[in-house]
Amino acid sequence: MSHIRFEGIGKSYRGRPALEMINLDVEPSSLTVFCGPPGSGKSVLMRILIGLEAPSAGRILSNGQDITRLTAAERSIGYVPQSFALFPHMSVFDNIAYPMMLQGVPRAEITSRVDQAAEMLRIRPLLSKRPSQLSGGEKQRAAIARGILKNADIFILDDPLVGLDFKLRESLMEDLKDMRTEIDATFLYVTADPLEALTMAEHLVVMDQGHLIEAGPVDTVYYDPTRLRAAELVGFPRCNILPGRLDMPGAICTTALGALQVSLQDGAAATETMVAIRPEDIAPAASDSAPLGVGEVTLVENLGSEAVVYVRFGETTLVTTISAGATAHVDLGDPFPFMIRPGAPIVFERESGWRIGRASPVLAGTRND
Ligand code: ADP
Ligand code: MG
Repeated sequence: MSHIRFEGIGKSYRGRPALEMINLDVEPSSLTVFCGPPGSGKSVLMRILIGLEAPSAGRILSNGQDITRLTAAERSIGYVPQSFALFPHMSVFDNIAYPMMLQGVPRAEITSRVDQAAEMLRIRPLLSKRPSQLSGGEKQRAAIARGILKNADIFILDDPLVGLDFKLRESLMEDLKDMRTEIDATFLYVTADPLEALTMAEHLVVMDQGHLIEAGPVDTVYYDPTRLRAAELVGFPRCNILPGRLDMPGAICTTALGALQVSLQDGAAATETMVAIRPEDIAPAASDSAPLGVGEVTLVENLGSEAVVYVRFGETTLVTTISAGATAHVDLGDPFPFMIRPGAPIVFERESGWRIGRASPVLAGTRND
């Protein structure tokens, strides 16, 4: 299985950098999701890995071998491109079979594999049609089938679910995960959607403006981001981010939610900070304990198994999630006494955006300065 290393990859178009100094190891047989806003360089990085574009700087290693100068054909990577161009003059079956035909896979095997993938992606009745007779979602599924059926040990899916409706995306995410357990290969999966990223990822790479800003196991990137921008970009619903002022020597950070006791990382110091608090780390206060504050419910959005509650507290609007069962007790305009989970707020230096520590709310009588 392939271990991929990006080493100092840069790419410029007419002097404008699209990628800068990308260093990354992709573990063999893993599923790595590349997440970032549109234009952050995800597709360019994938095209460089496939060999459709040459980097302006750096190199790519596969199992220690420099593959930077190999042609796309020599690299043999399965690819579902973002614009899933199908050949208009071929049937859907032939489109899907095409990469395997190029690879010389025997006809009987091609037929059975196309059939299996078509079943999984629910496009079997469409195999004899032309792409022009397919809906957008159907074309996308045909392109996914074509990309994953190639004999390869690296597969790239570049935003494969973009534009599909929510239900279809959900079921395709499940299908892709199942398929992934059956194919022992390295998957690189691109999406601009944080929810899709968190649903699919084992490893997560966060990109922003041509830079790789965070990479690691998905739980680490989500719960322990080292960069404010990563906390902002990876989260659904969005992370609460509040300005704060850190005063030494007690390491007390003053925010709109009150004082937070910061546990600073070694050597960290800052005055101007930003504090990130995940929606699930803000919760209704238990009736028998003093709340940190009492806000007012301004909006409730039901997402199925949970609801997003927007709470106004002074000038700040907090985003928090509660279980769908609890929504019966939450109405617009209701008071919302809340707590913050100790240790959950992450404190970043405002200017650099680097993490400097974690914080806990200072409750009456617990302040230690
Ligand atoms: P995304 O993260 O949405 O996939 P891309 O990788 O497609 O972003 O693009 C990253 C940046 O590179 C964008 O600013 C885009 O305009 C630029 N770019 C991509 N391809 C080209 C090209 N062939 N010529 C000029 N600029 C390009
Ligand atoms: Mg793209």
